Amino acid sequence: MSQPDPDLFDQESNALLSARVVYNVETGDAASYRAALGELINSFDQLMRQTRRLIRHSDRQELEMNRLNHRLTDLSNELEYRATHDPLTGALNRAAVIERAHRFLENHDMAMIVLDIDHFKQINDSFGHPVGDAVICGLVECLRRTLATPGEIGRVGGEEFTVILPQQDCAQAQQIAERMRLAIAGHDFSLPNASRITASFGVCWMPAGGDFRTAYSEADEAMYEAKRTGRNRVIRADQILRAGKRGQ
Ligand code: GH3
Ligand code: MG
Ligand code: MG
Repeated sequence: MSQPDPDLFDQESNALLSARVVYNVETGDAASYRAALGELINSFDQLMRQTRRLIRHSDRQELEMNRLNHRLTDLSNELEYRATHDPLTGALNRAAVIERAHRFLENHDMAMIVLDIDHFKQINDSFGHPVGDAVICGLVECLRRTLATPGEIGRVGGEEFTVILPQQDCAQAQQIAERMRLAIAGHDFSLPNASRITASFGVCWMPAGGDFRTAYSEADEAMYEAKRTGRNRVIRADQILRAGKRGQ
């Protein structure tokens, strides 16, 4: 047969019961009052000690819970960061660029820059992959330093980057791309042969409600036109479109 759960306050309940019995006897003697009071004092004392211990314990638990909550928030922020950023450069990754561009385009006009490092394979081939990685990081630093307006920088491929510029028009984006181009061409990447790095740029503009894929392919096409026509230059997608229409 299972035993009933012991009452946590057994001793205190008994002391209370005895005190009540003595209290209800109108003709009780001093010794029995004293004994009941003594028992009550002991129980009360013990109750206070236990209560203090419990409060301290629960304070410690609360602190631990707060610590774990903070840790959980940190971990979830870290996970969110890792899911949206390129580990080499800290720029947005491809998925995050697409997601943010979609979000901007829902309500705003948006300009977009696509850029690709010129002859980057030669850097890897001549100096090794780690030097190539350092060039990629240095280039993202140039982009960050140059981007004065609100915008997001993303690494969408190995040595290909996108800058999304909400509420900028094509001319403004072209100016930003030109400043970026000059910043990269003028930057000392500390290469063993002291050579310089350049990049080719394509720029396009999309009205609110436009589609990311169309914007990207227009800017990408303009970037390839910059490659075809000599590299280290900025080409606007609308200029190619106009030139194409004239040629028809
Ligand atoms: P272009 O001027 O036409 O763009 O020529 P390119 O040499 O820059 O282009 P290509 O596509 O021939 O080569 C790109 C190279 O980038 C090949 C690939 O090994 C290298 N690459 C891609 N991702 C990384 C990376 O994360 N680190 C390094 N070091 N190299 C990378
Ligand atoms: Mg390249
Ligand atoms: Mg490339």
